[in-house]
Amino acid sequence: MRLIVCVKQVPDTNEVKIDPKTGTMIREGVPSILNPDDVSALEEALRIKEEHDGSEVVVITMGPPQAKNMLRECLAMGADSAYLLSDRAFGGADTCATSTTLAAGIRKIGGGDIIFAGRQAIDGDTAQVGPQVAQRLNIPVVTYVQKVTVEEKRCIVERQLEDGYELIETKMPCLLTCVQELNKPRYMSIGGIVDAFEKEITVLTHKELNLTSEDCGLYASPTKVYRSFTPEMKGKGEMIAGGSVSEMSKILVNKLQEKHVL
Ligand SMILES: Cc1cc2nc3c(=O)[nH]c(=O)nc-3n(C[C@H](O)[C@H](O)[C@H](O)COP(=O)(O)OP(=O)(O)OC[C@H]3O[C@@H](n4cnc5c(N)ncnc54)[C@H](O)[C@@H]3O)c2cc1C
Repeated sequence: MRLIVCVKQVPDTNEVKIDPKTGTMIREGVPSILNPDDVSALEEALRIKEEHDGSEVVVITMGPPQAKNMLRECLAMGADSAYLLSDRAFGGADTCATSTTLAAGIRKIGGGDIIFAGRQAIDGDTAQVGPQVAQRLNIPVVTYVQKVTVEEKRCIVERQLEDGYELIETKMPCLLTCVQELNKPRYMSIGGIVDAFEKEITVLTHKELNLTSEDCGLYASPTKVYRSFTPEMKGKGEMIAGGSVSEMSKILVNKLQEKHVL
């Protein structure tokens, strides 16, 4: 079985802070990490590979040259091969252009039985890329996957809902977008880290994907970021003190009603 995992390098948004004086984002020193949902997607692919002899796990990303570091992490976790789609022409891509490029990359490397993606990237936060890639490859997609069982040429999948889950059967090839509840990802092994530095990472440009420069990046993006700004800091909290518990509760309820929370 061929398992392909779409992985994205993102800034660790837990480390991003707002400068209280200027109100702008402090980006210096913010480490880049493998997107958390994608770690779960990779773990699941590795788990399925271990259960099905002769399987392979391939990771693919679209990004700048430094995304190679993240791909080496994936190789150190156990991925067999890695592809980096990197080209100036890919710059400024919105989700539409990103998924066109990723789908072209997946086609170029021969496709897979299951394509995994994270549910969402913690920087762009749109959760659109997975379903768009599936649409371009003309294969079924199941989002919010919290459990996968593979049987012959089909997947039985639990799809997370707010109040439970749906049980879905899909034929392969298919694309699954994964949530972190799916599993507990493994750590990189020491041997895996050493081997990862010896493996080659294949870099593909737009020409090698049979895309013109008009098919990708800013040029092929129907949306443009018009303005971006830091949200205003929330005001100070207010303590309700004094009086009996029921008096303080009444004040609290009034305040919540004024703000239309209740
Ligand atoms: C309106 C708009 C305009 C934008 N303009 C720009 C711009 O000018 N310049 C710019 O740099 N960015 C821009 N972006 C950001 C860029 O579109 C996104 O980073 C990218 O398309 C992925 O979307 P996302 O981060 O929301 O991923 P999501 O859809 O939340 O990601 C879901 C999953 O898809 C997969 N995935 C997503 N991106 C990749 C990738 N690159 N490689 C491999 N797998 C991936 C991962 O598995 C991920 O978990 C723009 C975004 C929007 C919405």
